Amino acid sequence: MTVTVPSYYKDFKCIADKCKHSCCIGWEIDIDDETLDFYKSVKGDFGKRLNSYIKSESGINSFILDKNERCPFLNKDNLCDIYIELGENNLCQICTDHPRFRNYLSDCIEMGLGMCCEEAARLILSQESKFKMVFLKEENEEIDLTEDEEYILNVREDLYSIIYENENDIENGINEIFDFMEYSFPDKSLSQWVDLLLNLEILDPQWKTLLENIKSKENEIIKTGLEGFNREFINLIIYFLFRHMVNCSDWEDLCARVSFSVFAYRLIKILCINKLIESEECNFEDLCEYARLFSSEIEYSQENMDAVLDMLKT
Ligand code: SF4
Repeated sequence: MTVTVPSYYKDFKCIADKCKHSCCIGWEIDIDDETLDFYKSVKGDFGKRLNSYIKSESGINSFILDKNERCPFLNKDNLCDIYIELGENNLCQICTDHPRFRNYLSDCIEMGLGMCCEEAARLILSQESKFKMVFLKEENEEIDLTEDEEYILNVREDLYSIIYENENDIENGINEIFDFMEYSFPDKSLSQWVDLLLNLEILDPQWKTLLENIKSKENEIIKTGLEGFNREFINLIIYFLFRHMVNCSDWEDLCARVSFSVFAYRLIKILCINKLIESEECNFEDLCEYARLFSSEIEYSQENMDAVLDMLKT
């Protein structure tokens, strides 16, 4: 099957022990059947340790996290003992994949990097050239898509173009997008949006604090501008359009996914303005952190993602 990826995809490298928000902490780590069979065959002390930290619930095998929600194989230096003992090729599929995601089309898989990884966020947001898909292996492979898939990919390309044509006025670009889609963004105040988000499942208490902060400063935030970050915000919107549009079920869902991309951009920008008000500075690292947090809280929780998409259906 043909695999396409963003041009920056191959530049990603996990920063392992230097990562402040390791994906080996706080997430369930499922073990695929093939890897489980291999782990069961590992002998010696490490084999015993490995198998003593595997649980099976409702047919799903996963690692037993410690009381701090750390993977039991993430050592005190924040390095992976399975990687050290058994090598990179013997990690389970989820560990090999993360933070990569896949969008499945009839004759092609689109792969990308997810923003919930801080290093992926840095890479995605720092891109200076326009977003471009390339083949992962062979060049110029034939891709045979259905009519609907071709239509969605063409709409997505049109939206990328509108965003780039309006790179100095992103809000104007967003208005043009909604005119093009003949759709509108729900008319709600910042406080109303925050109340809706506070009702969703919250994974990191920092997210709740940030949401309450921006609610309490609504008037100040509306009056405060944010200079710079144009290219980064364009990269942000395009990331969400790229990742989510092709998974739509119908036209309304497609429009909600476009609105979701706008929603993500506006909320992350508001978090940056809040940081500017609080400490007179908001730098690239702050932006990456808000993008990562948004992604972990909303994009990587199917329940929260569905709830936000429902809120965006007008
Ligand atoms: S979140 Fe990203 S950078 Fe951090 S440990 Fe996981 S893959 Fe590596």
